[in-house]
Amino acid sequence: MKKFPLFLFSGLILFCFLSSTDAGAFEASKTDSGKLIKWAFPQETYRINASGGPSGSIKAIRRSAATWTNVTGSSFIFIYGGKTTSTAYGINDGENLMNFGKLPLGTLAENYNWYNPITGRVYDSDIKFNTRYKWATTGVAGYYDVQNIATHEMGHSLSLADLYGPGDTAKTMYGYSSESEIKKRSLTRDDINGIKYLYP
Ligand SMILES: [Zn+2]
Repeated sequence: MKKFPLFLFSGLILFCFLSSTDAGAFEASKTDSGKLIKWAFPQETYRINASGGPSGSIKAIRRSAATWTNVTGSSFIFIYGGKTTSTAYGINDGENLMNFGKLPLGTLAENYNWYNPITGRVYDSDIKFNTRYKWATTGVAGYYDVQNIATHEMGHSLSLADLYGPGDTAKTMYGYSSESEIKKRSLTRDDINGIKYLYP
């Protein structure tokens, strides 16, 4: 399986897809040779360790997964693989983990994909929510919303990149968030076009 070295996906090479209505509608990540970075099969089984997160975190993350899975016209499905006690992050261990722990200040959460730099095939994807910030599952003031951020980070797992344009602020893949924000829970047409492009 490890015929080629696997590198950390850090959004180095971006492919900008231009729709007919909006420049920079979404961005999918590519290898140096121009291959799309994506899962070989349109599915990802993930496990959750909610330790350190607010109550309701598992349900919130599962709602995020369902939001992407339920897109009409996309074959991609997230499959809930159950709870785990693993706190691993960014390790190519064959488990796609979502857990809570410390990351550097300035990062709310992070997605870490391992992929084959030749083929672009993704092997492993982990998401960590930064416990240096306060989390809730209700959108309440003063806390960051788990479902809001999980939906965004799962977009990275799919290979969609952050967007920072003035026309991108409503999108799930907009690269900034704020306390009590919940607009990323639901996908905009450009987010939907992104997953449909990657996994028709
Ligand atoms: Zn992001």
